[in-house]
Amino acid sequence: MKITVLGAGSFISGGDKAAAGFALKIGNEAIIVDLGFGCLKNLQRSGIDYSKVNNLFFTHFEHPDHINDLSAFLFARKGLADFGFSEKTQINLFGGPGLKAFVKKLFELYPLFENIPFKLKVSELEPFGTNNFNGFTLTTKPMSHRPSSLGLRFEASKKAVVFAGDTEPNENLVELAKEADLLVAECNYATTEGDGHLNARTVSEIASRASVKRLLLHHFAPEAEKADIQRMVAKGFGGEILLAEDLMQVEI
Ligand SMILES: [Zn+2]
Ligand SMILES: [Zn+2]
Repeated sequence: MKITVLGAGSFISGGDKAAAGFALKIGNEAIIVDLGFGCLKNLQRSGIDYSKVNNLFFTHFEHPDHINDLSAFLFARKGLADFGFSEKTQINLFGGPGLKAFVKKLFELYPLFENIPFKLKVSELEPFGTNNFNGFTLTTKPMSHRPSSLGLRFEASKKAVVFAGDTEPNENLVELAKEADLLVAECNYATTEGDGHLNARTVSEIASRASVKRLLLHHFAPEAEKADIQRMVAKGFGGEILLAEDLMQVEI
């Protein structure tokens, strides 16, 4: 598996980072995990053919920094299909409870989506579930952030990568990330406790308790941008720590 960071930032990051989003290549297929504002442009820059990206997963949809470019993605894919630049295939959206109602409202806002020349299937994942897809397994657990928040564990070829999404510290995340090859986790704050997010201390504790091999940190608010996050997290976690930047690639 290979991750491309589409957006390393949070909702108030500086100009060099798009909001949260990743492309995860499993075999020959790239899937999306979150698509915040700025991520579509980075997806187009990344070299991944986005006309062939048909499976998008969301850790939560209540916050635009994780889903705002979905409408841009669908509009672009509609254009590609309308003008014969892509196959009229099926696009699948996966997320937590309420995703169907969210997409229905998006279609009310943009009536032209009713004319999308491909199938759009929306699936709500079980809060505690394991799903077998073509080429990978996905395990989900609820996170402590918003009602739709799910942690996502993808496993393929005996490797595991876990996306925590936004979350406060919780035991589900420790279990979900157990011995993962890579934990992709937010570090919104340096030292602020709670407020829906992790900080340097709490993310290092979770990574350490879960015995993950490597940690990829993203979603830095200005407080974390200004701090030496690598040094702070290393106090509590002995594995490799990577700080995400837009378009960074990580092999798993
Ligand atoms: Zn959020
Ligand atoms: Zn966020």
